[in-house]
Amino acid sequence: MKSKITLLKLGGSVITKKDEASTPNFQAITRLAKEICRAEASPIIIVHGGGSYGHPTARTYRIAEGFKDKRQLLGFSETHEAMVSLNRLVVKALVDCGLPAFGIAPSSFAVTRQRRIQVFEDEPLKQALKIGLVPVLYGDAVLDYEQGFAILSGDQIIAVLAVRMNAERLIMGADVDGLYTADPKVDPSAHLISHLALKDLQQLRVKIGEAQVPDVTGGMLGKVSELMLPIEHGVQTIIVNALKQDNIYKALKGEEVVGTKITKT
Ligand code: ADP
Repeated sequence: MKSKITLLKLGGSVITKKDEASTPNFQAITRLAKEICRAEASPIIIVHGGGSYGHPTARTYRIAEGFKDKRQLLGFSETHEAMVSLNRLVVKALVDCGLPAFGIAPSSFAVTRQRRIQVFEDEPLKQALKIGLVPVLYGDAVLDYEQGFAILSGDQIIAVLAVRMNAERLIMGADVDGLYTADPKVDPSAHLISHLALKDLQQLRVKIGEAQVPDVTGGMLGKVSELMLPIEHGVQTIIVNALKQDNIYKALKGEEVVGTKITKT
C-alpha cells in the first residue's frame, strides 16, 4: 500500500529570478503558497531549488567540486546561508496563508559521498509528517565523505524521498510546460511531450546524448535522470509549469493540467 504522500518540487527558476543574483520572485512565491494552501493536499513534503540564490556563490567558490582550498569554506557558509534565506521566504509565505510549514535544512540530516546521498536521517521528517507539519526542504550545500562538501540538488533529494517515503505522486513545478523534445528556450521546433513511459525516457536520454549538445542535456534532462528511480518504483510523476497560474493547484487536486506525465509503463 502506498502511503499517499505527495511530493512537490518548486524549481529554483520558478521562485527566483534566474537572471538576477539573489532575487526572489515574490509574486510567484506568494501565489504558489496560496495555491498550495487552497489545494489542502496532505501529507505533503515540499522541496525547492536555489535558482539565483544558491547557484552564483556556489559557482564562484566551486563548491560542487569539493573542498580543495580553505578559502572555499566561506563560500560554503555563504551558499548555505543564501539557501536558508530563500527557504525562510518560502516557509513564511506558506505560514502566512495558514499552512504549518516547517523548514528543514538537508545539510543537517544528509551527507553525500561523491555528490550522491549516502546518509539520510529521515526520522525528523517522518515525525513532522505524523503530527501534520509540512516539511519544506531545499537544494543545499552539504558535507561529503570524499570531497569535503558538495551541492545536493533539490531534485536528488525529492527523488530519494519519493522512494523512501513510498510516495504516491511527485509533482515537479518548472518554468516550462514540461519535458520537450529539445530545450524549448533554445529550439523553437521543440514540442511538448505530454506522456512518457520509462522506456521512452531512456530512449530520449540516449537520443539527446547522441546529439552531443551538452546544453540540452542540462536542466530538465538532468532532472529527469534523478526521476528515473522513483518512476521505476511506480511513483506517478508529472512535470508542470509552476509559473502559470493554478497549474500547481490543479496538479495537487489531481485535475487535468498541461504538462508531462511520466509513468512506469
Ligand atoms: P529548476 O531550476 O526549475 O529546477 P532548471 O532551470 O535546472 O530547473 O531546468 C529547467 C530548464 O531546463 C528549463 O527552463 C529549460 O530551459 C531547460 N531544458 C533543457 N532541456 C529541456 C527539455 N528537453 N525539455 C524541457 N526543458 C528543458
